[in-house]
Amino acid sequence: MQRVNVKRHLTVMNRLLLAPVLLVSIAAASPRAPQAAAAAAPVPAVTDVSPGTLAVSPGTPAVPPTPKLKGPKLVEPHLHVIRSGIKNRPRIALTFDACMGKADDRILSALVRERIPATIFVTARWLKHNPQALKVMLDNPDLFELENHGQNHIPAVDKPALIYGIASAGSPEAVRVEVQGGADAMLASGVPAPHWFRGSTAKYDLSSIAQIRAMGYRIAGYSVNGDGGSLLGAAVTEKRIASAQDGDVVISHINQPTHAAGEGVARAILDLKARGVEFVRLQDVEDMGDDQTTQ
Ligand SMILES: [Zn+2]
Repeated sequence: MQRVNVKRHLTVMNRLLLAPVLLVSIAAASPRAPQAAAAAAPVPAVTDVSPGTLAVSPGTPAVPPTPKLKGPKLVEPHLHVIRSGIKNRPRIALTFDACMGKADDRILSALVRERIPATIFVTARWLKHNPQALKVMLDNPDLFELENHGQNHIPAVDKPALIYGIASAGSPEAVRVEVQGGADAMLASGVPAPHWFRGSTAKYDLSSIAQIRAMGYRIAGYSVNGDGGSLLGAAVTEKRIASAQDGDVVISHINQPTHAAGEGVARAILDLKARGVEFVRLQDVEDMGDDQTTQ
């Protein structure tokens, strides 16, 4: 996630008006919206906009989108797991994205110490640079389900678009490479074959969803955005995750050890355990995803 620099984007727009390229620019982030570029530089504020509109800073007059700038319709699928239905024993799936960068040992060690199962979405890039953290996960197969977060953390959208400032794959072939490259790297690292895919930014267009489903994957949305792309403070992150309800799928990040959010994640894990939560991985339970992501 990053705040969009309006001047820069207007410059980009000018270029795009000269070239038949589609542009979608989306700035972050409602509380339950997905956060994308966890590795991007922290920024002081965010602006809510919908796909297809131009992001602007507060106080700046909005620039209406022109037909030439209209990008692909993007969706941000939700995912829930089947509720336990048992009072005081809510069922929650913790999912973590390992986009790139390092491993957050505050979270990883808490999961191992407390014996809390979780689903980790890894990229080829993250696997390459974090063999020690990977070993911890592989040494605890009862705790960690590893799934596919792509090869190079490129949004799995098959048309040109900018999402949180990240260029999308832009073609079906590039989507295929992103998905298959992630899976190949997992197998090469000794990880069991993945069954779930979650793309960078957690946004897709419907045709890329159909393509990824045809490759044999379920697509992992979420229902609670825990850490705002790892850019939220510790207290806010803890509160968001700790308030998850029966059937929720929580997304947060395990690749930003220097961010305050990870401290909040680690604390929330203990809060949930104290609440009597039944922690599940995606492979362990039935689930329900919208936008044709699991059905
Ligand atoms: Zn990611």
